[in-house]
Amino acid sequence: MKTCLSLLFVIVLLGAYPMSTVSGDAPDQDPGGIHRVDSPQPPPAAIHDGFVSITGHDAGNYLRFLASDLLEGREVATRGYDIAAEFAAVLFRMWGLKPAGDFIQAGPVTGNMSAAGGDARKTPSRSYFQDVVMREVLSTTGSITAESGQSGIKHERTFISGIDFTSSVAGNWSISAPVVFAGHGIVEKALKYDDYHNIDAKDKIVLILNEAPGADMADSPFHRKEYEERYFQPRRRMHGGDLRTRTAADRGALAVLLVENRPRKNRYLGSRILDREKVDDSGPVFDPGRRRLLLPHSGNTDPRSPIPTYRISRHMAAKIVAMSGENLENLQSIINRSQKPASRLLSRVRLTLNSKSCTQLVRSHNVMAVLEGSDEAVKNEVVVIGAHLDHLGKKGPYIFNGADDNGSGVCGLLEVAQAFATNPIPPRRTILFALWTGEESGLLGSTYYVAHPAYPLEKTVANLNLDMIGRRWTRERLDRMRQWWGVDIPQKELENIDPDRFLVLSRARGPSPVRDALKQANALAGMHLLIRPSAGFGGSDHAPFAFKGIPWIFFFSAMTEDYHMPSDSLEKVSLDHLENISRLVYATAFHLAGWDHDEKASE
Ligand SMILES: [Zn+2]
Repeated sequence: MKTCLSLLFVIVLLGAYPMSTVSGDAPDQDPGGIHRVDSPQPPPAAIHDGFVSITGHDAGNYLRFLASDLLEGREVATRGYDIAAEFAAVLFRMWGLKPAGDFIQAGPVTGNMSAAGGDARKTPSRSYFQDVVMREVLSTTGSITAESGQSGIKHERTFISGIDFTSSVAGNWSISAPVVFAGHGIVEKALKYDDYHNIDAKDKIVLILNEAPGADMADSPFHRKEYEERYFQPRRRMHGGDLRTRTAADRGALAVLLVENRPRKNRYLGSRILDREKVDDSGPVFDPGRRRLLLPHSGNTDPRSPIPTYRISRHMAAKIVAMSGENLENLQSIINRSQKPASRLLSRVRLTLNSKSCTQLVRSHNVMAVLEGSDEAVKNEVVVIGAHLDHLGKKGPYIFNGADDNGSGVCGLLEVAQAFATNPIPPRRTILFALWTGEESGLLGSTYYVAHPAYPLEKTVANLNLDMIGRRWTRERLDRMRQWWGVDIPQKELENIDPDRFLVLSRARGPSPVRDALKQANALAGMHLLIRPSAGFGGSDHAPFAFKGIPWIFFFSAMTEDYHMPSDSLEKVSLDHLENISRLVYATAFHLAGWDHDEKASE
């Protein structure tokens, strides 16, 4: 099970389905595919020194510290995270990169080196830290009660949280309203299919099935690629919530109850029992659940769901539907047989949803430094290179060192930062180096940055996101990728790929400078790249930038069985691979930022 979960994660992460056109996205002329360079060119003189200064050896030294038990897995808003953040700030300062975090009051010199970047009296301006205050959900209690009344006889039934339903959002509400059954909650104009056609969901609670009509019928139009991705692949958008919830919210619904369309074996209980006696890195771990953190502005509910959203058991759904005299199985077979909606008000039924969350405020911070561009004309334009610094922390006796996730991305970023800082020729545009907090809790640090940018978003040329760049591909992983993603790479081409130099990159769809910069950079790095255009709403820190329409590239290497396990440790990371990818990132960023003498020559 663990393996299928991590691969499910890959699918979500890379939004891997090729070329599906999410509504409104301009189709991408460049279908992506393999960009293979076997004999790399030497880097141009202007960027040479920085390029060759990037080494796996140096990255390994940082990683030894960042992935050590000492930092206890760098969980957000913990001492381990704060030490890692201070370490990075000291390195930025050592390389002469300017602080790009919060503005700080001028005042007497304090002992806090990273705070003022030198003599506070002279130029007290910014810190290397951008504070990110979060709300931690300590506990949530909730209940759902269904009432139905007929000829004065009242039936009432209360359902139990964790047994009959789970809520994917935390918050405080008490909602009481009639219920509508809205089929699969789908509106697809192209298919002339609208589950809301003959019902009014305004101020009501909507009960919907997941998947789509005709799930078991191969000829169902919903099995076409673009609909398959939307309705059968539980791809979860980090921003804007999942499609069904948003569709219901757009029609004034107060809450959504989502039920499995087809009964499935519950794989979670019991298969993760911890063998407490045996404490070793590769043992299965009983995950006591992660801290639930939200950004303050997310109001009462989680920004990932615009209205309260519950997952309910089929048993509970059948009970609610039966209280209105209908039968859930029957409604489903009407939909599957007719391939038409069977939505209706569940008459005489009223649901009351109560939720109470106890929360506290916690503080963490992004670490940000900048190398200002040399060209007056474009130095107000910025390339943002980011990587999340936080990981899962400690659970019981287990430390999640997060060497690959995301120690590798952080060390790659540090190597790229020192390379830019020490390269004799500065970039024309500005480069912002950002280590994000709270990624594991829902991209909180990068989401906060996009809402409070150090440089105007409209001046942000691109975001380069480094997350898990430390593990090599293997033939076996390549074959598995091909099966799972249905990636249509001809077998012959796949056989010619050198797994040691292979990398899958997803990038912003549509015309933007990132595609060419990547190819120009790879001419120097000499890797075998599989470049995939995508919408980018996947599970890493480029998503908030993608959501704002900023071009982005996601540098992510192989997914392994150590994903989110204590076994994601230092010795598993390939420092050569990390070096190659970091040089590719450096060259890509330099092509995006431009450099003086060559540009005059080239432009
Ligand atoms: Zn990660």
